[in-house]
Amino acid sequence: MSAYRDGERVVVLIPDRFSRAEETEWVERMLARLAAREERLRHTDAELLARARRLTARYLDDYADLVAPASVRWVTNQNGRWGSCTPDDATIRISHRIQEMPDWVIDYVLLHELAHLVVPSHNARFWDLVNRFPKAERARGYLEGVSAAGSLVMAE
Ligand SMILES: [Zn+2]
Repeated sequence: MSAYRDGERVVVLIPDRFSRAEETEWVERMLARLAAREERLRHTDAELLARARRLTARYLDDYADLVAPASVRWVTNQNGRWGSCTPDDATIRISHRIQEMPDWVIDYVLLHELAHLVVPSHNARFWDLVNRFPKAERARGYLEGVSAAGSLVMAE
């Protein structure tokens, strides 16, 4: 048995001999499995790097020569920050804690770190870059809310 995506459709292959009830049960099971596989894929470093490239092209295109990260990785050992950037070696790390947050929050955290490749400090020029992202303010509010709710001390 297998399931795969074909454009907008999901194709589930099951044996002919299955009853209606078995068919229903297995289609549900295969769809759940496919969703889990896609969710794991979303959390890969490769997908994070692809996301970084999309964000750079969209918001930091005029600095594309500076915004060339050597690596962009998910990390689990970063409890005090949502993300971090080391401009010296152009590496970016993003906390796994934001993996379940909405896409626009992940985009904000990632764009914030990418902008540090242009401006290392949190000065006005830096915020001008970050605020090119339309939901920047909203994302900051979201993250502050999560920090407050969990009594976490998180820094950008
Ligand atoms: Zn920062």
